[in-house]
Amino acid sequence: MRTVNHWIGGKPTTGDSTRTAPVWNPATGEQQAEVPLASAADVDTAVRTAAAAFESWSQSSLSQRTKILFAFRQLIVEHTQQLAEMISDEHGKVVSDARGEVQRGLEVVEFACGIPQLLKGEYSDQVSTGVDLFSFREPLGVCAGITPFNFPAMVPMWMYPVAIACGNTFVLKPSERDPSTAEYVAQLWAEAGLPDGVFNVVHGDKEAVDALLDHPEVAAVSFVGSTPIARYIHERGTAAGKRVQALGGAKNHAIVLPDAPVDYTSDHLVAAAFGSAGERCMAISAAVAVGGAADELVAAVSEKARNTKVGPGRDADSEMGPVITAAARDRIVGLIGSGAEQGATLAVDGRGISVPGHENGFFVGPTVIDNVTRDMDVYREEIFGPVLSVVRAETVDEAIALINANPYGNGTAIFTSSGEAARRFQRGVKVGMIGINVPIPVPMAYYSFGGWKDSLFGDKHIHGPEGVSFYTRAKVVTSRWPRVSQDSAASFHFPTAT
Ligand code: NAD
Repeated sequence: MRTVNHWIGGKPTTGDSTRTAPVWNPATGEQQAEVPLASAADVDTAVRTAAAAFESWSQSSLSQRTKILFAFRQLIVEHTQQLAEMISDEHGKVVSDARGEVQRGLEVVEFACGIPQLLKGEYSDQVSTGVDLFSFREPLGVCAGITPFNFPAMVPMWMYPVAIACGNTFVLKPSERDPSTAEYVAQLWAEAGLPDGVFNVVHGDKEAVDALLDHPEVAAVSFVGSTPIARYIHERGTAAGKRVQALGGAKNHAIVLPDAPVDYTSDHLVAAAFGSAGERCMAISAAVAVGGAADELVAAVSEKARNTKVGPGRDADSEMGPVITAAARDRIVGLIGSGAEQGATLAVDGRGISVPGHENGFFVGPTVIDNVTRDMDVYREEIFGPVLSVVRAETVDEAIALINANPYGNGTAIFTSSGEAARRFQRGVKVGMIGINVPIPVPMAYYSFGGWKDSLFGDKHIHGPEGVSFYTRAKVVTSRWPRVSQDSAASFHFPTAT
């Protein structure tokens, strides 16, 4: 059985802990590797290693850092296919989708290659007679990243390229369910010339996470995962005096107005609901059909759902792979059943799907549930599977109110031909990322990514300008260089400009 390694101080290691977890192949249902679960002592070793590396990395020049970032960027480009296949084997998503995830992560590396421009400070000449004022930003120290299973390459790349470019060192605790990408990326960093100890990986579960949250040498924690854990990370991390950004779960709605073209809208809804088997934090899981839009929409979406090719992620014909574990499959199947029991209409039922040659894989077929109401479990829960619920509303304002009553606020979209309705929507929704005829509005790397309400705890969104701000703190210098012969003119009153 293959063993996945931690990566500490530029070397693979399995650490001291004897606890391990299985890594499944979701397409076959078989265990393919095991991953060590770090103890608090293993985490301490990684953090101390990162803290020691910070001493010199934080003093490295911007030129030295960007040279390594450009080399790392090139290696990601060259190894995109290997990364995508590794992701597909452990996560289950189709390889083309995994390539897309690597590409979106790569864009953050490219953003970080511009760090000299991003770290420029401000300068004010002669703010008082003979006095200048300027600011610059410094790295924080050891930063930790705790990441979810659904984007094993991209979500960590939202964090570490920016943190490292800013002069921090990093300890990544990736999801224990698809851990191999992290070790592979660590090797690429080493090949790019990153000094040992600047980027470290510890695998693990709650024990490792708690050790990071409590460690006095961890300055900042970036978390992406489910809402209950995000809330916990934020509370415990900030209580320990750390800077914390914790991105949580989602329930993303797409409003469909009667003036939206049905073919375009249903194509995009199906891709956004069932791509990556619905295991995306920006997946559309609720379509809100306004006025007369519902019946035609449900018919079109249902036909496309039935025609979606479900199969192993490595099969080039597959459009949708399995979900991550047997437990995830059983939970999703249970929620679909609850929808039927609570009065919704199963327009397409993906339970009981069997993929020839992969009968033991963790597959759930695309599912469309119509006539969903706010009180049903399928509406209230983040299903995180290939399930699209259709809710009906009379007006745009009623649809906007529905979105705003939801505890999550990650992403949302509207499909319409009306600029007036789109503008009312973009100004009215309490959601962080908004699409207009774009179902998955993930911002480019040079903007920041983040939701509102229970989809993000903390003050800063991730990557982009807010990422640079999160991973640095400002110094403001007031400077005077008096001529030796000049009077000192010191006084006891509070300094004011002269
Ligand atoms: P998860 O919350 O179960 O796990 C995330 C991380 O937290 C993992 O590294 C895991 O090991 C760790 N963890 C799990 N339980 C813990 C505990 N009790 N104490 C401490 N640490 C713990 O999330 P997941 O199932 O891996 O990922 C899916 C979730 O992530 C979904 O809710 C999805 O919406 C969310 N997500 C959000 C975004 C976003 O940008 N907002 C992006 C991707 C995924």
